[in-house]
Amino acid sequence: MMVDAFRPVDLPRLGRLLLLTGVVAAMVSCQAGHAADSAPSLVVVVTVDQLKPSLVDHYDEVFTEGLRTLIDDGVWFPAVHDHAGTSTGPGHATLATGVHPSRHGVVGNSWRELREGEWASVSVVVDDDLAIPGADDRPGRSPHHLVRDGFADWLVAADPSARVVSVAGKDRAAILSAGQAQGDVYWFETQTGQFETSTYYTDRPADWVERFNREALPALFNNGCWEASVPADIAHLSRPDTVPFEKDGVRTHFPLCFDEDHHRDEAQWFSRTPFLDDAVGALAQEAVRELELGRRQSTDLLLVGLSATDRIGHRWGPWSRQQFDNMLRLDRTLGNLIGVLDQTVGRGNYLIAISSDHGASALPEHLQTAGVAGQRVQERLSQALAGLEASTTGGSDGRALAVAELEDQDYIEQVITYEAVTSTEPADSFTVLYRNSYYPGRRSARMARYGFEVRLAEGSMAREEGTGHGTPYLHDRQVPLGFFGNGAERLVPTDRWSRTVDLAPTLAALAGVQIPPDLDGRSLVGD
Ligand SMILES: [Zn+2]
Repeated sequence: MMVDAFRPVDLPRLGRLLLLTGVVAAMVSCQAGHAADSAPSLVVVVTVDQLKPSLVDHYDEVFTEGLRTLIDDGVWFPAVHDHAGTSTGPGHATLATGVHPSRHGVVGNSWRELREGEWASVSVVVDDDLAIPGADDRPGRSPHHLVRDGFADWLVAADPSARVVSVAGKDRAAILSAGQAQGDVYWFETQTGQFETSTYYTDRPADWVERFNREALPALFNNGCWEASVPADIAHLSRPDTVPFEKDGVRTHFPLCFDEDHHRDEAQWFSRTPFLDDAVGALAQEAVRELELGRRQSTDLLLVGLSATDRIGHRWGPWSRQQFDNMLRLDRTLGNLIGVLDQTVGRGNYLIAISSDHGASALPEHLQTAGVAGQRVQERLSQALAGLEASTTGGSDGRALAVAELEDQDYIEQVITYEAVTSTEPADSFTVLYRNSYYPGRRSARMARYGFEVRLAEGSMAREEGTGHGTPYLHDRQVPLGFFGNGAERLVPTDRWSRTVDLAPTLAALAGVQIPPDLDGRSLVGD
């Protein structure tokens, strides 16, 4: 594909990822017991947070390393998350389990639950009954709120000697992608500036991780400065670096260096740069070498959670120079990982799957410059919610009135009540997406305590700066779903939307392990 002029607005488009061969993927019956002879010796699942397919599409021509290999030699499907609450926790849990949040229970990164009549906050992987090894003052982490098992669990059930390794920039990414499995699970912790684990997995971090923290990680901080690496002759593919509406309107352009007036500490600065992904990728390479992944009798699993794209997208927006720079670095990070896999496991022996937990909206100001409706509504929404607080004290009549008033606001498209969400009656397609995000007793939305959620008009954003996700619109739900290596040739591209719930059963089919009979997704392996 030619790299066309910078396309400013992220309208739904399948682009080159849509392969029009039009064959319906069929469910395969999977073998029980250990992995099949033809199975990959290592399955690598790379989840790039907030990787909009349009980012891969738009910058396609300039990729030369890892993304180049995955795009040119892989099989890609246009895919969506089929749930309304498009955030990190639900995205990773859905990719891992093959069921919607309504069944795996992870409805958000955090939510509220009624406990003895009071609304209590729950953070998805925080587990007060456990600890962080070496940091007794902080609570541990575990998948205790995830109520389903996933591909990692099915793999270990089929072959207990299979190794599960999960490394990520965020705790919830590392943990939820591994299901309930107790493998080598590590994430970057901004409070300590190190990779850490939880007593759910081990009482003591592995030597190779401690050595990585001590010896390799400090150099990856790049002396506290993120400088642009985008060549001048292709810089026009992104927005100019100095537009005033990115981030806080001040720190909009390169170089973006650690600043003690602006950042809590250097680890926090680091966690918002592409260097975080460099570190996760380097730790993944270390795991491949140290644990001899893919070179044993089993099918091993390596889960790699790259969080930088999300952190950068939130602050500068998907079409910023910062995100372009990050895409080029992501290409290199994936190239380095593929290089190590080729050297150690051997091309043709491993399988890589790549996807994302959610997409994102363009910045509202960017939409305006492109002539598309975009507005920031956080103040008006807060005022409306304050009014709601007052009126709901007047009982159900007050609530009905408040709902009617909200529906009158031009930036609110729909009020979705939990009565409609929990009803078995047929519903409009948006309400179906909210149903897929609804788990009894767990309320993640801002106004959930009142018994409903609101769907903002498309382009309306309840944030003071930057951009976000979390809506049921296609720009938040659409993600790539690509496969490369051993088994990818068995996948038949289709012109229909695939769904993120299809990933886990597809990996199970390729690894030859049994799946639960009640998944929401289906294997993409053709007959
Ligand atoms: Zn995010």
